[in-house]
Amino acid sequence: MTGLAGSRGRGRCYTFAASFLGTGCGNMTSISANLQAVGERIRQAARAAGRAPESVALLAVSKTWPAAAVREAAAAGQRAFGENYVQEGCAKVAELAGLDLEWHFIGPLQSNKTRPVAEAFDWVHSVDRLKIAERLSAQRDVHRPPLQVCIQVNVSGEESKSGVAPAEVEALARAVAALPQLRLRGLMAIPEPSVDPAVLHARFAELRKLRDRLAEAGLALDTLSMGMSHDLEAAVAEGATMVRVGTAIFGERRKA
Ligand SMILES: *Cc1c(COP(=O)(O)O)cnc(C)c1O
Repeated sequence: MTGLAGSRGRGRCYTFAASFLGTGCGNMTSISANLQAVGERIRQAARAAGRAPESVALLAVSKTWPAAAVREAAAAGQRAFGENYVQEGCAKVAELAGLDLEWHFIGPLQSNKTRPVAEAFDWVHSVDRLKIAERLSAQRDVHRPPLQVCIQVNVSGEESKSGVAPAEVEALARAVAALPQLRLRGLMAIPEPSVDPAVLHARFAELRKLRDRLAEAGLALDTLSMGMSHDLEAAVAEGATMVRVGTAIFGERRKA
């Protein structure tokens, strides 16, 4: 925490982070407290659903935040981080290689950008077509553990463009599961924003039912990646095993 230029006399507000954000002192001082609060939300939601609190993992979504913010979260005990943008994410992975962190790519992935993701990340949540999966598998170093992947499913119909249609999940899952350098772990969804809790519950429940149907078809998957800052309670109630939380940990992102 010390030794950062300009940090003296300002608590833990980093001047370079402030300039990165283009605002004054950001929310950096509260990352540790926010992590605790999010952990408590997860535990309460799990208990309310009759689930073991340890059955829900927290992925801290650090997109747009500087490596210093990740360091602060890591110092507070957080190990798994999610990134959306290839260049930004790979730069952070490289900069923080000395910390023992687990990196998850959760953003849209174009086929010409798969190589750096296959090389830098531990997980990819956003596989939604076979071509992307084939490239990731081919580009993954055989001496490293397989890339852990989730298939992104469109549970919102016309409201959303990303993700494979529910009717096509099983065929894609079978093909992905057969690729040598990938390990298919589960399903991921980003429901359309909704203020109606019933709609959110229905979307998350659809992902859980798809997972259950795959299990019946012989494809057992252990991960349901769903739930973000504003809807993690609904996701946990419907069976999320990994929630992806950014804003509630790091603060509001500046609009690009
Ligand atoms: C940004 C993002 C999140 C985190 O969203 P918050 O609302 O900031 O918690 C989770 N998942 C994906 C895929 C994202 O792009």
